[in-house]
Amino acid sequence: MVVEVKVSTPYIPAAEPLYHWRQRWPHHLTPDGVAALARMIPQAGGERELIAVHTPFTGEQIGTVPACNAADVNEALARARRAQKTWAQTPLAERRAILLRYHDLLLRRKDELIDVIQMESGKARRHALEEVFDVVVNCRHYAYHGDRYLRTRPRRGALPIITWTWEHRHPVGVVGMIAPWNYPFTIPISDALPALMAGNAVILKPAEETPFMALLGAKLLREVGLPDDVFQVVTGHGREIGPPLIAGVNFVGFTGSTATGWIVAKQAAEHMIRCSLELGGKNPMIVLDDANINSAVEGAIRGCFSNAGQLCVSFERVYVQSGIYDRFVSALVKRTRSLRLDAGLDYQVEMGSLVSADQLAKVKEHVEDALARGATLLAGGRARPDIGPYFYEPTLLADVTPDMLTVREETFGPVAAIYRFDRVDEAIQAANDSPYGLNAGIWTRNERFGRMLARRIQAGTVNVNEAYAAAWASADAPMGGMKESGLGRRHGAEGILKYTESQTVSAQRIIPLAPFPGLNVHAYAWATTLALRVLRRLPFLR
Ligand code: ADP
Repeated sequence: MVVEVKVSTPYIPAAEPLYHWRQRWPHHLTPDGVAALARMIPQAGGERELIAVHTPFTGEQIGTVPACNAADVNEALARARRAQKTWAQTPLAERRAILLRYHDLLLRRKDELIDVIQMESGKARRHALEEVFDVVVNCRHYAYHGDRYLRTRPRRGALPIITWTWEHRHPVGVVGMIAPWNYPFTIPISDALPALMAGNAVILKPAEETPFMALLGAKLLREVGLPDDVFQVVTGHGREIGPPLIAGVNFVGFTGSTATGWIVAKQAAEHMIRCSLELGGKNPMIVLDDANINSAVEGAIRGCFSNAGQLCVSFERVYVQSGIYDRFVSALVKRTRSLRLDAGLDYQVEMGSLVSADQLAKVKEHVEDALARGATLLAGGRARPDIGPYFYEPTLLADVTPDMLTVREETFGPVAAIYRFDRVDEAIQAANDSPYGLNAGIWTRNERFGRMLARRIQAGTVNVNEAYAAAWASADAPMGGMKESGLGRRHGAEGILKYTESQTVSAQRIIPLAPFPGLNVHAYAWATTLALRVLRRLPFLR
């Protein structure tokens, strides 16, 4: 194999040469490894078109997967229905043990997982590491707390002592997951864990760009004892296999663009199934005058440039209070210009590639449009084909105006606009002036004040002195979007109860809740009125 060492760039003080990762080509992505993963895909027989998967680091092909069709999806659905019946009978303790074994296995084998994540998505190693940690945190949370969420609860009956009521939680059945390419391990697997814990079978349709992490996640679930067909992966084009998948499942979980989210929601409505949607964001960061500058700058770097900005919760708008503006902006610009951008399997790399030519084209278009309309370029603003085909520099803009594409739309790239404000109310108003409401960050030394402001921001998660990780990694608390950023939540109680059907069972003892034989309706009305008056006054019913 010819080894090419790319020319080093001013962005990469300690660039890891490209040949390094060629020598560590993950064995799951060797031709044999790819073939083994592809064999796990349910197929109804016959030839299928192949979808080529490329590594964004160089644009080289790393493997192919079949473009499944509706017959393959139906095959997966039939297998899932059969497997789910037995899985739902499996004691919770056994499901918990599988999740805990998965937890330990992922930590043991994190390096090989991260290699595959990086190869497939082109992200920096430190950002791929977050994916594994996220799945591990969710394993622990739902393993230890699953039975608290799912257990049968006694409820107050209609009449104390006489009516006895319980709430049961049943699995919905088969859950469909449609996942994006930006977090190919975290999103589908972390979202599947509570569905599995609740006794469902899961069919995952990963993004066309990143099928191998989904398949590898499925393979490892089997290794820790998940029965066959309880978790399956179907690969293919969303437009073709999304509809038959949604038609056949009992719940669909979607993460991706708002435009596709609308389509998925409509299809779910046609089949009268529930869905959860985690969609776009145009997330604001607010830096108050009293913020710790270093912490705010590092927070902006994580918030704006993690995963090269291809992160639904990343910041694309940075509002900075006048008193700190000059110092903060000059420190942020300096730090942004010094970020290490590279295609390597080294933790020192601070930002990786964009995922595809389409993403690169969109980022370029947004930046060029902003500059043509009068924005000021503070840092970055260039593609970097010398590093890899889809690399783009971390970019900061000022003087942006509402007519610019980057203000009107989600860029989903390493581009943030900086705004100055004087009064806190202005910042809150500007932060809320968006059709989206996913995540936000506030930097202040007065945490109490920050938490109070947070409640005025229309976003499903708000982080005080952190970009996104604090709220995201708090798996006990819900995460999701307000407004056009989505429907439903992952994590916490909502993140598992959404995969269940509640059932209320009530038993009536001694007397019916109706006029009973021998009692005339007048007497019944009188007695019930009296009983309701008494119930209103009973302290233990309040
Ligand atoms: P992007 O445009 O960035 O690829 P999408 O939101 O379109 O993001 O993709 C997210 C996921 O949705 C992918 O797995 C994709 O295949 C799938 N998808 C795309 N179109 C549809 C559709 N019409 N129905 C169901 N899933 C779809």
